[in-house]
Amino acid sequence: MAKLQDKPDQYGVVGHPIAHSWSPFIHGMFAKECAQNLTYRLYDIEPADFRREALRLFTSGLRGVNVTLPHKESAAELVNEMTARATRAQAVNTIVLQKDNSLLGDNTDGIGLIRDLQDNLGLELAHKRLLILGAGGATRGILAPLIDTQPAALVIANRTPVRARTLAAAFRDLYDIQACEFKDVQGPPYDLIVNATSASLQGQMPEMPAGLVSEDSVCYDLAYGRGHTPFTLWAKSLYAARVCKGWGMLVEQAAESFYLWRGVRPDTHSVLEALTRKA
Ligand code: NDP
Repeated sequence: MAKLQDKPDQYGVVGHPIAHSWSPFIHGMFAKECAQNLTYRLYDIEPADFRREALRLFTSGLRGVNVTLPHKESAAELVNEMTARATRAQAVNTIVLQKDNSLLGDNTDGIGLIRDLQDNLGLELAHKRLLILGAGGATRGILAPLIDTQPAALVIANRTPVRARTLAAAFRDLYDIQACEFKDVQGPPYDLIVNATSASLQGQMPEMPAGLVSEDSVCYDLAYGRGHTPFTLWAKSLYAARVCKGWGMLVEQAAESFYLWRGVRPDTHSVLEALTRKA
């Protein structure tokens, strides 16, 4: 453990936009709880500058960064080495500066979602019908861990259907995923619907056919923020059994990043409680 008078180790999150991020608050609480001497800042980097500016952060002394929208796939191209789960996702949300100055990329989104669904929300995931909306970096990260739960069916629907089909093909060795555009999603209702589009951030909800949500469905928006999102409103209007936002995933994926950087696993419950009180 670092002595408190030492210069703090520097970490941060890179995204665009990034001002809305709760990661500094979360990692600040983790650091306090685990007595780790570190700082954690926001870095707003435009897509065209990602490679140059991300490398500059490491040469200027950062020990690790989280990577968020829209850079996760670019981060997979930036790092020198990837963990198995990041290689499978071809998307990186956590970069670690290693002792030999090389960059290791990992993806903690999937484990973050699964821990929230299973441990925090108490859901039984095996043999369920799953529908994922969106085929971007977040979907890449959550697919393999969701497939590990042995779903009865798995459908990816995306605004640009070719991206959904490309993802389905990339995971074909693990599962026979059905891919389509939103209007072509077919019932019967799904046990779990995950909104992994960024439509909520734009105040939008993809137009979905009827018959996908029942009174047993759980609807989970990866987006988080104050109040309802267009997706959670849609799910409520169809009487879904449970409607959740991505706070728990946010905290759980952050805890896994923190563990990678510091070798200490923070307790997530107090942070999740504090966040949901604030938000
Ligand atoms: P990407 O930019 O990689 O992908 C965005 C996805 O959203 C694409 O599938 C895109 O479709 C779709 N999309 C964007 N706008 C619309 C729209 N108006 N209508 C329908 N579809 C749309 O983003 P990420 O995958 O990284 O992130 C997705 C969401 O997940 C964000 O809200 C992000 O904040 C959240 N997230 C939350 C986490 C958490 O811990 N809770 C962790 C990671 C992500 P197309 O292919 O057609 O462009």
